[in-house]
Formats: sequence, C-alpha cells, structure tokens
Amino acid sequence: MKIAIIGVGTVGSAVATAVKNTGFVHEIVLFDKDGIRAQAAAEDLGHAASFGFDVKINAVSNYRGIRGSDIVIISAGANQKPGETRTDLLQKNVAVIRDIVPRVMANVDSKRVKIIVVTNPLDVLVMLTYEISRLPAGRVIGTGTMLDSARLRTILSRQLSVSTQSICANVIGEHGDSSVIDWSSVVVGGMSLDDFCRQTKISLPGTTRKTISHRVHNAAYEIIQGRGATWDGIGAAVADLLRCIINDEKRVLTVSCIAGTGNKAVAMSLPRIVGRDGVICTLNPRLSAEAAIDLRKSARIIRKNYDSIGK
Ligand code: NAD
Repeated sequence: MKIAIIGVGTVGSAVATAVKNTGFVHEIVLFDKDGIRAQAAAEDLGHAASFGFDVKINAVSNYRGIRGSDIVIISAGANQKPGETRTDLLQKNVAVIRDIVPRVMANVDSKRVKIIVVTNPLDVLVMLTYEISRLPAGRVIGTGTMLDSARLRTILSRQLSVSTQSICANVIGEHGDSSVIDWSSVVVGGMSLDDFCRQTKISLPGTTRKTISHRVHNAAYEIIQGRGATWDGIGAAVADLLRCIINDEKRVLTVSCIAGTGNKAVAMSLPRIVGRDGVICTLNPRLSAEAAIDLRKSARIIRKNYDSIGK
C-alpha cells in the first residue's frame, strides 16, 4: 500500500507519523511546495521508522513521484492563527486545492485512488476536490467531524468516568463552528446516555451538556492558543480512517463526503460506513427537532461558502 501526503507541515508530519505507526503501509511519499521541508521530514520520519515498522518514506520533488499511490492525503495549505476561524482560510486554501488536485489526478489511477482531504475549511474543500477530481463521491473523503467526535468522547469519558472505548457519540455537520452534537444517539456501554446516567447516579443536566458542546466547539481554538496549531488528534484520526479503508473494516465513522445533486449538493459529516471502496453508505440518524434544525443550518453554511468561491 502506497500513500502520498501532499503538504508536510505540522499536520502532514503528524499524519505521516501516525500512518507509519499503523504498520499497514509499506511506502509513504511526501510532497510539499517547500521541497527542503519535505526532504527534512522524510529524513526525520525515516529515522523514526527504523525503530518500528519497515516503511519506505521518501520526499518527492514533483507529482510524478506519487504515481502508484492508492490513497492521497491532502494536508497542504494555510492553518488557523489564534482567533481565526476555519472559514477565514477559505480563499487561500481554495487556491491550494486548485493547484494540487489537477496535478494529483494527472498522476494517479482514477479507477482506484481515494483522496482524503484534511485541509480546512474541510467540507467546502471536499466539494471542490470532488468537482475537480471527478472521482466518485465515496472516494473523496474528508476527515470531517471524526476529530470533533473524538473530542466529544474524550470529554464524556472524563465526565462519566468510563473509557472512551465504551462511548459511541457523534458530532455531525460542518467540521467547524456550526457542527452539531447528536445527543440522542449517544450510547455508553450499549445503553442510552440517560439510562447510563440513571444507573451510575451521574447527573448530566442541560447546562452541563451546553458546557460540553461549547468545549467541543472550542477545542481547536484552545489548542491553537496553547501550542500554535493542532496536529496529534488529526494525525490519529487520519490513521484510523486509513486503517478502516485498507482493512475494509466497514466501521461507521463521521466523515465528510458530498451528497445530493445540483445546487443542493453539499459535503458534511454524517455517520458513514467506510471500507475498501471509501464511503459505502451514509446513515441518517433520528435527530431531536433542535439538532435537525441545527444540521440544516450547518449544511446551508457549507453550501453558501462553497457558492462564494466562484469558478
Ligand atoms: P503548516 O503551515 O504547518 O503546513 C502547511 C504546509 O502546506 C506547508 O509545508 C506548505 O509549504 C504546504 N503547502 C502550501 N501550499 C501548498 C501547495 N500548493 N502544494 C504543496 N504544498 C503546499 O499548516 P498545518 O498546521 O500543517 O495545517 C495544514 C492544514 O490542515 C490547515 O488547513 C489546517 O487548518 C488543517 N487542519 C485540519 C484539521 C482537521 O481536522 N481536518 C486539523 C488540524 C489542521
């Protein structure tokens, strides 16, 4: 399995580290418009690889080097500075995707390649990548709210004193400020959140849920304030998504993928079954009336941003 990572800054390097550590990939190629940076990352990662799985890691100086890649991960582009929203990156990163995707498509096998989009604002860039690449929708996948869902599970785990592994909880919609917590589908140890709280005598009133929601929405801002960028969480999310695809695991992940047609088409995160062919099936959870309104609002925001980028 050969993986190409386009954009080897903070996130691309973390992605490469996490992917290398899965042991499921035999070759990783790194491309960055800053060739010296890509070369240095390949050296450093190569040294790290010598302590673990035998993975070939090379920097490539042009797109011909990505030939033969099964999966291409796009993590190039501007990141958020403290106080900036993901949407603030829109125009800069639209130009980055318009630069990268045609070159990628000229050098991969369009019959089998899958593209994973990481760059923000994620959902709009999934739509743009889909439009430029002309790949089937299920093979242009954004990490979406996988990270937001992980943040929710982590906060709930601390609140409920139970392992994250026993919690199924989804954040859906935009990977951004309008993301929506689907409280009605939270399951802990196979039971509903309310049942779990009743039996463990833990109180999770509306005010606490609001605080949790606020913390999920603000997690990236707080991390960026504290360490300049976020990278470990997204690195692990990409590796998890990759593992699911490579092993054809058919797990349900909250990834972003385009759905709908014409001017109603939008990419956003919903629980989706992911396997060897990418997104295989999209699930529509039964939402509370409030969450359904918020999700529609989130979709409108993404679509409006996409329409604003022009041709
Ligand atoms: P960074 O500035 O550290 O690295 C970006 C890299 O992209 C640089 O090395 C730059 O040279 C390269 N680059 C820029 N334009 C390019 C082009 N046209 N071709 C090839 N390479 C190009 O930024 P970062 O912190 O690594 O963040 C990268 C992106 O990932 C940002 O958009 C950020 O918002 C996003 N991100 C997404 C998530 C998520 O959950 N999806 C999480 C964290 C960060």
